[in-house]
Amino acid sequence: MTNCFSLAIHGGAGVPPHAQMTADREGECNRALERVLAMAEAILRGGGAALDAVTEAVCALEDEPLFNAGRGAVFTVAGTHEMDAAIMDGRGCRAGAVAGICGPRNPVRLARSVMEHTDCVLMIGDGAHALGRDTGIVFEESDYFFTQERWDALQETLRLRTSGVRDEDQSRRHGTVGAVALDRNGNLAAATSTGGMTGKRKGRVGDSPIIGAGTFASNESCAVSATGDGEIFLRLSVAHEIDARLRLCGEALDTAAKRVVLSDLAALGGSGGLIAVSRTGDVSLPFNSDGMYRGWSIENGSRGTGVY
Ligand code: ASP
Repeated sequence: MTNCFSLAIHGGAGVPPHAQMTADREGECNRALERVLAMAEAILRGGGAALDAVTEAVCALEDEPLFNAGRGAVFTVAGTHEMDAAIMDGRGCRAGAVAGICGPRNPVRLARSVMEHTDCVLMIGDGAHALGRDTGIVFEESDYFFTQERWDALQETLRLRTSGVRDEDQSRRHGTVGAVALDRNGNLAAATSTGGMTGKRKGRVGDSPIIGAGTFASNESCAVSATGDGEIFLRLSVAHEIDARLRLCGEALDTAAKRVVLSDLAALGGSGGLIAVSRTGDVSLPFNSDGMYRGWSIENGSRGTGVY
């Protein structure tokens, strides 16, 4: 055990090409990441649990309309919201997740309710919403989640689709938020939350709420939260693949994470990235997309935020 904390957050791999990003927008994103990073660092510096740090970090990112989760989530093809979220406690590999929900202000809190108040791992539909009401989760009307920017992105995606063009603009297509942490007691945790892909089919579920694909944490190895083309992350069980490389092959975190993102994912045409922290406090933030909104903090080590 290191007795030091490590933390990483992300606001998704849905970033525009660098040439199209304005300095104002990039500054706004970095400031938002910095705010969330500082808040989660304070929890860990005060001796708080990794599980609480990732929960609060993801809630703050869900509340921030700049990123695709909670308020500011992207729209389905039908103009509705269907959100996915997961959380995993590395201590005992407990996990909770929800898929296709709309109502809870912070989907990650409902995922945590699944973990803490049921014997399930993944819940959907009315049953998930009922659990939220029973466990005191705050609900919002659907207009709370609306942002003009995401609505306009849906219209553009649908227009391109009608003319037979796949929307290659990563900032319009997708995004996600996530956090991973190692606390001073040596416990790891991961959490991920997303609106999914713009113009997705109703009922489509991505990698974010699937334990081992978009989210994973085990005190034996590492904590991972992913972002990108969900179907490819699902097919490769990305987060668990990194865990397996650490445990079974003895690879270093950065070697394993880079191999999966830059080689395995890329070979199947999967665009995106992930954040990961190991049981020894190493942090890795690889992406094969134009960029990934991210922040990291290693106690007594490096710290920062970045987009490209
Ligand atoms: N992985 C998310 C999904 O497929 C989207 C993203 O992270 O960009 O739902």
